Amino acid sequence: MSHPSTSNPAVVQVAIASPLYRLFDYLPVAGGSIQCHPLGSRVLVPFGKREVVGIVAGHQSQSALAIAQLKCVIKPLGSRAALEPPQLKLAHWLADYYHHPLGDVLFNMLPNALRKPVIGGAYTERCWQISTHGQGLPATALARAPKQQALLNMLRSEPERWTSDRELLQSGHAQQAALQLFKKELLYQTQKEYLPHDCPSVLQGNKLRDPLTLNEEQATVLAQIRASQGQGAVSLIEGVTGSGKTEVYLQAISDTLAQGKQAVVLVPEIGLTPQTIGRFVERFDCKIAVFHSGLSDKERLAAWQASRDGEVGIIIGTRSAVFTPCPRPGLFIVDEEHDNSYKQQDGLHYSARDVAVMRGHFEQAPVILGSATPSLETLHNAQQKKYQYCVLTQRAGGAVMPSVTFIDIRKLPLHEGLSDTAIQAIADTLQAGRQAMVFINRRGFAPLLICHDCGWYANCNHCDARLTLHQRARRLRCHHCDFSTVIPSHCPRCQSAQLLNIGQGTERSTETLARLFPSTEILRIDRDTTRSKSSLDNSIQRINEQRPLIMVGTQMLAKGHHFTALDTVVMLDVDQGLYNPDFRGAEKTLQLMEQVAGRAGRSTQLGKVFIQTHLPDHPLVRTWAEHGFKRASEDMLQERHALGLPPYTYMALLRADSRTPEHATSFLHGIQRSLSAQIAGTHVQAIGPMPALMERRAGRHRAQLLFKSTHRKPLHSLLEATLMSIATGKTPSGLRWSIDVDPQESV
Ligand code: ADP
Ligand code: ZN
Ligand code: ZN
Repeated sequence: MSHPSTSNPAVVQVAIASPLYRLFDYLPVAGGSIQCHPLGSRVLVPFGKREVVGIVAGHQSQSALAIAQLKCVIKPLGSRAALEPPQLKLAHWLADYYHHPLGDVLFNMLPNALRKPVIGGAYTERCWQISTHGQGLPATALARAPKQQALLNMLRSEPERWTSDRELLQSGHAQQAALQLFKKELLYQTQKEYLPHDCPSVLQGNKLRDPLTLNEEQATVLAQIRASQGQGAVSLIEGVTGSGKTEVYLQAISDTLAQGKQAVVLVPEIGLTPQTIGRFVERFDCKIAVFHSGLSDKERLAAWQASRDGEVGIIIGTRSAVFTPCPRPGLFIVDEEHDNSYKQQDGLHYSARDVAVMRGHFEQAPVILGSATPSLETLHNAQQKKYQYCVLTQRAGGAVMPSVTFIDIRKLPLHEGLSDTAIQAIADTLQAGRQAMVFINRRGFAPLLICHDCGWYANCNHCDARLTLHQRARRLRCHHCDFSTVIPSHCPRCQSAQLLNIGQGTERSTETLARLFPSTEILRIDRDTTRSKSSLDNSIQRINEQRPLIMVGTQMLAKGHHFTALDTVVMLDVDQGLYNPDFRGAEKTLQLMEQVAGRAGRSTQLGKVFIQTHLPDHPLVRTWAEHGFKRASEDMLQERHALGLPPYTYMALLRADSRTPEHATSFLHGIQRSLSAQIAGTHVQAIGPMPALMERRAGRHRAQLLFKSTHRKPLHSLLEATLMSIATGKTPSGLRWSIDVDPQESV
């Protein structure tokens, strides 16, 4: 291997996708200098016995290792940096804030195709450009090769332009002539990426529709957003379901495009339907990059490159689309900002919403967060005036909010979970030629034991928390302390033997409905029936044909959909979420109830929502029903304040799991002991270690240590110390650990 012979060689610091919190030093590619490896560029490097892709993350004049020990970069990959300075800045913020290795952060930000050494089957084609030599050649020098002369003359007319093989053919020139000219050094040749015409990830807008005339509230909100343009300002649009938030986004994007800038729109995983994309395509005439899970690596790469090269005006996608590079960032929108799918639950535990806010700040572009049910974090920021607070209280386009009726199902006979009242409501709706939805809650499913006759449920003797049913161990267990007890055979309050294990499946409900309504079409929509994207699209298409039918489903039906023929919604088991031991259980449950209710009555018909509950007197549910979501949110915020919970405090979790039960816990105990001196006298509490809510998963035992603090700074110092302690201590073999900053679930 040949090393540069200067006495002060430049060292390339390379980030690698690994759990190690460090960069690796290399010498530049043999025969090259540090200029061959700009920051953010990809390189192939030797790593142990393998060759891996790395990203240049730094340049140094020296290494801690002896220069003779350093290896050379094998070769640079690609002719330009994969990540440019704005992305690198964001990457450093992510690594700091989430206490995650920089290498893994950088790889999270790249499309999959760029994580590999060879860009598998990217769209590239050969292109030609006239060389300086060619430009200097007299116009008749090639008289004996008229085809070459003609081609040269054509390329001479636009000397800056790269012309592809395909374009040569289209203009009647032969590739052979180009090759001959190239051999004479009259042309340059290169491989360029191109987009196929039918690339599903880069769509061409067709501008078939004009903007709607905004109603008064929408116009006010748009004016508020315009007034805050260009300062990295964040606006929250809190708009009831169907209030026309999307229309406001579209008009704000219109402003962005008119300034020649790009807009990034994030939507929840299940919100990226063909209808959503359609609304953008029919409104704008720019190109639109779309990122969703149905794309191949190659298609994602195409969308990523088109965005980075500034060819698209709008980028729409789910969580990881927040990392899409834009040379002219002008607006970031996070629709349904409260949605869980924005938080990555493994590896880099980032929140795409928070990353969008940070990008807006770094890249000086305004940010819009929209939701009918804002998270309490965002609501708090709006109340604190960190975010501009915009509200839409009315449904747009003439629809009104649906009526809500609670069905107290204690003691009522149920047909696979359905009450007579609910069944009658469905029958009436079908009779009227309209559609009905039965919604079954499976989010955060914590099985519970409840007395069907009196509504009693098991409480912890030591905590203000419900006990969770552990069927295998035949015990009820508290997830806040160590308390557990045997499953009773009778209700301790009313002696009834009707103890229900609540949580109803969609399959059984569908069967029951099919028996009750034999001549009605019933669509079951859940994770099992919609494995393929097309089956969900098919179901949605059936619904949009507006014939009477019943849809039975889970969370997939909760959000974003605009079903105009849907009049009646029945919710089963939503209240089980109120018993969820996590402190966010109530917030999530009310969001879900509001969103599901919001599917009803989105046209001129009045919507009707029926909620079956064992808890008709739950104070939050009462507040929600009588005063709406906003009031209920304010109550929840007060409660969080009183209990010292987020958003009034900050949290981080250190999670660990191992094959042997003791390892995870003793590892966490060790960390806690090593931190005790630093914790004393700060605002940080370390709670635990305790078993995770799902204590055993895939044969591994899971435990966690919760850090909670009234201030961010000491919390982050403590996490820094945690990493140090782990790095210097001994980690039992087979143990895995991770840090989750701002965890969505903390039990
Ligand atoms: P959201 O995003 O708040 O759920 P949408 O933007 O989807 O609401 O709007 C709900 C319905 O109201 C859509 O059918 C939309 O076309 C219609 N709509 C929105 N704004 C207006 C308006 N200004 N005038 C008439 N109809 C509107
Ligand atoms: Zn009872
Ligand atoms: Zn307890």
